[in-house]
Amino acid sequence: MKSLLRKITTLSAVAAAFGATITLPSVASAAQFGQQPIAGERVVALAEPVSNGRFYKLLIIEQISSVRRCWEEQAGNPVTINPLLLTFDFTGICGRSSDSNGYSIRIGGEDLGSRYRVQVEKRGDTLVLVASPSPLQRGLPKLELGRSTGIADGFVKLELDAGWTMARRVYNGQTLGHIYLTNNQSLDAVIAASGAAPVSQAPQPVSPLPRPPSSTPLPRPGIPAPGNNANVDYQVIVPGGSNILRSRVNSVEPGAFRTTVNGQSVIQAGRFREQSRANELRQRLAQAGLAAQIVETAQASSPTPTTPTPTTPSGNVVYQVIVPGSSNILRSRVNAIESGAFRTTVNGQAVIQAGRFQEQPRADQLQRRLRSAGLDARIVQTTGTVASPPTSPTPRTPTPAARQGEVLIMIDPGHGGRDPGAVGNGLQEKEINLFISRRLQSTLEQRGYRVALTRNRDAEVDLQPRVDIAERANATIFVSIHANAISLSRPEVNGLETYYFSSGRNLARAIHSSVLRSTDLRDRGVRQARFYVLRNTSMPAVLVETGFITGREDSNRFRSNAAREQIADAIAQGIIDYLR
Ligand SMILES: [Zn+2]
Repeated sequence: MKSLLRKITTLSAVAAAFGATITLPSVASAAQFGQQPIAGERVVALAEPVSNGRFYKLLIIEQISSVRRCWEEQAGNPVTINPLLLTFDFTGICGRSSDSNGYSIRIGGEDLGSRYRVQVEKRGDTLVLVASPSPLQRGLPKLELGRSTGIADGFVKLELDAGWTMARRVYNGQTLGHIYLTNNQSLDAVIAASGAAPVSQAPQPVSPLPRPPSSTPLPRPGIPAPGNNANVDYQVIVPGGSNILRSRVNSVEPGAFRTTVNGQSVIQAGRFREQSRANELRQRLAQAGLAAQIVETAQASSPTPTTPTPTTPSGNVVYQVIVPGSSNILRSRVNAIESGAFRTTVNGQAVIQAGRFQEQPRADQLQRRLRSAGLDARIVQTTGTVASPPTSPTPRTPTPAARQGEVLIMIDPGHGGRDPGAVGNGLQEKEINLFISRRLQSTLEQRGYRVALTRNRDAEVDLQPRVDIAERANATIFVSIHANAISLSRPEVNGLETYYFSSGRNLARAIHSSVLRSTDLRDRGVRQARFYVLRNTSMPAVLVETGFITGREDSNRFRSNAAREQIADAIAQGIIDYLR
């Protein structure tokens, strides 16, 4: 194998020349290219060892004509490849692509060669084909395209992951030598489906950590051991979020579960007051080949939920800045000046509350800003009790906040009251959302979980108050329930969509796959989106679009209470899978 390796390296110059004759004038822009699939058996991706196997790079060999075979496969773990093209003049018979001139990635019909570099990474005993964002593309996550089933001295076959295929670049109806590693889904869908980190990598405060109902070791009460910081817990985590990783961690420490730390998916194996116990667990994980880390986190006993306005001691005067009225247009105008404004009532009158302050000058300042935007802002003095209650038409019983170590599932039935959400085929989204949410609540409660709803009747609740309810209750996860809609003239559009923004990705996947397993809903994918309730909650948050009110199949399903219950129960199972 060693001599073969030297030969193919010296051949690179020849191959480059061969490549040059078929690559394009660089004036052609990526948008002009098309693609033509290559039959799977006529092309192979392999990891070529470089520097005596210290690292690997991608080599793609294509069988162009059938005159002679270009490579030979040797079964095993891994599958190894003998590149037969080394022994004959392969021009016109075999294509050989060995660098970014020869191959690039294309997603959803868009060339991403300038944004991503394709590389082979050695991870333990697996070679993983990855696309790494180029240095100027900091917002993009790394993507995984394929992998080997082991490691060997020579050329190792890389199998592409589901959804990825190889295609030839097409220009003006002519197929070219350039090979695409291509995925026909949208970039967002690929990012959502890949094991890669989500696009938003902004550092986040460590949120109160979810814990399973009983299984993880809880901090022991009493005096911390000498040398331990009295205010921190030692959290033992393994970065990653796959099911395989979780079961590997579970086999060392039962009760391990997925969570996020600083916005990153991790498996939490344990959490301790005593650093020595954390060290001990880390060592046991390391013996099983798991790269565990210890993270110091603040003890979760006094979470500090972010509320839009300061909490006011009882009895103090607060200055509430309001604009009379309640239309959506008015609310968005006020929001444009002061984000987080929401509908409420003052003395029985509908208003948009823009802010609430203990200091009159701050209220005056906001009033001036609103007035200069042509809004009739007023200041109302009230006696402060709690910060900005999301005053719904009747008082709401606040959900008692989750205590340390307790799991609280916040369910958010979308829309309500004057806002029906999507309407069509005799159905109202707000009613479907509430039905599914209530069933979800009762199913989860039967399974021993504590559950709260952001609304439990047909009432209008604005978006920020929904976020506030979850934050104040110190919820472990947030699950918003919606139904989808498109034009009534598109009854063929049906299916489930599950959204996350950042830390909710694994929760979204767990729910999505559970619902697809238990219902016959079509799969429209796990997707990333900037929904308000997903962006502004600090705990893992998802939004489930349970089907299309406008769809022929889905609207029929929504008409059956049994089918709605089936959806709710499947969402409940997904939540339980995630929390376990
Ligand atoms: Zn909705």
